[in-house]
Amino acid sequence: MIRVENLHRHFGGFRAVDGASLTIDKGSITGLIGPNGAGKTTLFNVIAGVLEPTSGHVFMDGEDITGMPPHVLFHKGLLRTFQIAHEFSSMTCRENLMMVPGDQSGETLWNAWFGRGRIAQEEAALLKQADEVLDFLTISHLKDEKAGNLSGGQKKLLELGRTMMVDAKIVFLDEVGAGVNRTLLNTIGDAIQRLNVERGYTFCMIEHDMDFIGRLCDPVIVMAEGHVLAEGSIAEIKANEAVIEAYLGT
Ligand code: ADP
Repeated sequence: MIRVENLHRHFGGFRAVDGASLTIDKGSITGLIGPNGAGKTTLFNVIAGVLEPTSGHVFMDGEDITGMPPHVLFHKGLLRTFQIAHEFSSMTCRENLMMVPGDQSGETLWNAWFGRGRIAQEEAALLKQADEVLDFLTISHLKDEKAGNLSGGQKKLLELGRTMMVDAKIVFLDEVGAGVNRTLLNTIGDAIQRLNVERGYTFCMIEHDMDFIGRLCDPVIVMAEGHVLAEGSIAEIKANEAVIEAYLGT
């Protein structure tokens, strides 16, 4: 589904991503791990159109999507989750979900203004969809809660929920498990697995929690110093000497 070819992203003289090549298979939950500073987030940002690459290519289903902006990729079904932005923290969970399709349309203010009639017509449908998403994520009881009042884990669920308001094909998750308690981590893991199995989502996730990765991800790709060091099942990765050395070296 995604093929990254010899990707580079340099910051001045520093090679954050330095010749990374990898593939993400359709239907997989691919883990991306590596020591701090390995270039994982930079790679994500280049794939998701947030950063331009210095050189190299990204293909989605054979199409060269290198350098396409996030809203264009969004319409192709490629999404990267982001923390709920500060300005949305005073909106309820339901409102946060309902605004996703319009927020990501890449429309001009002019188009957005003339789109208001359409949005009003579709509001009931959006409301229903938002409630279904909240139900799927087992956070219906939080529908009228302001996003800013949610716990870290609940915010992660809401971020995941945002991808369900549109036709996502592949979702890039950046540390959904970070700072989340075990109970909510299980809920998040279940939601990811169900989205994968029931809705055909492909996932690529940066994660540090090895148990979480072991439960969800196959394959696991290991990055170090801007490129791919190893790829395999979690058992293979854990037994890989180059991987162990990369982690011990930091
Ligand atoms: P990881 O996600 O694996 O921890 P990052 O992609 O965040 O790694 O960072 C890789 C390296 O690139 C780090 O050394 C970081 O300091 C550097 N880096 C990331 N973004 C920038 C930036 N905007 N300007 C300069 N250096 C950056």
